[in-house]
Amino acid sequence: MLRLLTPDFFVPSIYDVDLDALRRRGIRGLIIDLDNTLATRDEDVPTDRLRRWLATARANGFRICIVSNNLERRVQGFARACGVPAVHAATKPRRRAFLRALDLIGVAPAEAAVIGDQLFTDVFGGKRLGMIAVLVVPLPGREFIGTRFVRIVERWVLRKVLRLEPRQGGRQR
Ligand SMILES: [Mg+2]
Repeated sequence: MLRLLTPDFFVPSIYDVDLDALRRRGIRGLIIDLDNTLATRDEDVPTDRLRRWLATARANGFRICIVSNNLERRVQGFARACGVPAVHAATKPRRRAFLRALDLIGVAPAEAAVIGDQLFTDVFGGKRLGMIAVLVVPLPGREFIGTRFVRIVERWVLRKVLRLEPRQGGRQR
C-alpha cells in the first residue's frame, strides 16, 4: 500500500521534472494532471512558460495527455490551448481514465509517467497501473474545501510516513 503512495520523483514544479531521467527509464508518454500541476484553477490558458515546456517535451519525443477530474469545459478548453489530448471527469484514482489516456497517445503503462500534485489520485492511480509517478508541489491558489482537507492528510503522509521532501531533478529513492 505504501509503495503505491510513494512517488518515484518529488519535485518543486513541472519545470523541475528531469525529462532525460525519464527517457533513460524508457518513458515516452506523460499523463499530466491539470489543476495545481499545469495551472492554477484560475488560469484558463497555458502560460508562455508552460507552452515552451510542452514544446520542449514533445520535441524530445514525449507524447502528452492531460487527465483531470475537473469538468469537460475546463479540461478540454485548456488542453486545446495546449495542443494536447485530454481526458476529463477522470474520477482518478480509478483506472479507466488513465487507460483511456494511454490509448489516446498509444503508449503502454510501463512506458508512461504520471505527473500530478496529489498523492491519493495522481500518484496512487498511476502506481497501481505500474506507471512511474512524479509528484509536484501544488501551485498556489484557490481550492475546493475538500481538497484543502486532503492536502493536510497528504502532507502528513509525505513528511511523517514517507519522509519525502521535494528536490530539484528529484530522484528520491
Ligand atoms: Mg491537481
